[in-house]
Amino acid sequence: PRSPLRPQPRPGVLAIEAYVPGKSAAPGVAKIHKLSSNETPLGPSPRAIEAVRAEAATLALYPDGSATRLRAAIGARYGLDPARIVCGAGSDELLTLLALAFVGPGDEGIFCEHGFLVYRIAILTAGGTPVVAPETNLTADVDAILAAVTPRTRIVYLANPNNPTGTYLPFEGVRRLHAGLPGNVLLVLDGAYAEYVRANDYTAGLELALDAPNVVMTRTFSKIHGLAAQRIGWMVGSEAVVDAVNRIRGPFNVSAGAIAAGSAAIADEGHVAAAVAHNDEWLAWLTHAVEALGLAVTPSVGNFLLVHFSDKPGRTAAEADAHLTRAGVIVRRVSSYGLPNALRVTVGSAEANRAFVDALTDFLGVPR
Ligand code: PMP
Repeated sequence: PRSPLRPQPRPGVLAIEAYVPGKSAAPGVAKIHKLSSNETPLGPSPRAIEAVRAEAATLALYPDGSATRLRAAIGARYGLDPARIVCGAGSDELLTLLALAFVGPGDEGIFCEHGFLVYRIAILTAGGTPVVAPETNLTADVDAILAAVTPRTRIVYLANPNNPTGTYLPFEGVRRLHAGLPGNVLLVLDGAYAEYVRANDYTAGLELALDAPNVVMTRTFSKIHGLAAQRIGWMVGSEAVVDAVNRIRGPFNVSAGAIAAGSAAIADEGHVAAAVAHNDEWLAWLTHAVEALGLAVTPSVGNFLLVHFSDKPGRTAAEADAHLTRAGVIVRRVSSYGLPNALRVTVGSAEANRAFVDALTDFLGVPR
């Protein structure tokens, strides 16, 4: 007779709400502008595309499991010892590996109220308990994070700038947060949007990750480098943290194409500069244009903007989203981040940004 027993997921697994990515299509609309996933309108460096093509000759072979070339290229770009770098299949993988390595059942992990959704998933995946710290003005609140710390806290995630709010915690706040944390709590500074930040105190976070044994910075090739499809992230931290992550990661977690593309992309500083310049220009343009339509915008230092709607019928984020989708402009609803009446829009090409503002103008009934 068949056993009535069934495999049961560990406690916590069924508490996870699977991550639902932003939309990528508008049914029935031929021409779309995808402004939903914070991808760069400039695309990747031509050198990265060429490097991926060249890898086609070796598809039958396993990649270098240590991503030596990519770590060397990152090290050369930022003046870092490659031994202090681990690469991953996107920074998502590294954020999860950090929880798996440092958080266990009964342990707690802290993140901010509107923090990136992967933090909660990572902590629950590790068997830990997520703890949410309130924000002030949609910005990380250092005192609130420190107040949430208990003897069970093992990890604190801080996206700087944060997605989906676009807000920035100046380094003085990061330093104060680190100073207030017990030494056995790992502080993860998620720098997915680091390259877009113009504040000159930003690089201090990287230095803190090099100096402090309990600080890590994660970065990605998905945003400024235009390589989201390749899945490439990296982290820098102490020898002990790097060692722990290297023990548990997949032996070939970064593909050969990713190693080649990332190595070429990070060396193409001209391409990165062009992407930053485009963002500077159009982030300001979009902010002004949306504010001119009478909507509130959270000041952003990333490559996206959080636009606030209202709960008045005809004026909600859900209705705006439906209207934009019909017009072929795909943006991100952020209800799952606790922001039911806001939409997140990525800074896109000139054409896409104009299409967004035009569609929003029509939605609001403002004469063009
Ligand atoms: N951190 C933040 C704050 C993000 O917004 C994202 C992308 N949505 C990531 C990490 C993960 O990016 P990736 O896995 O593509 O490196």
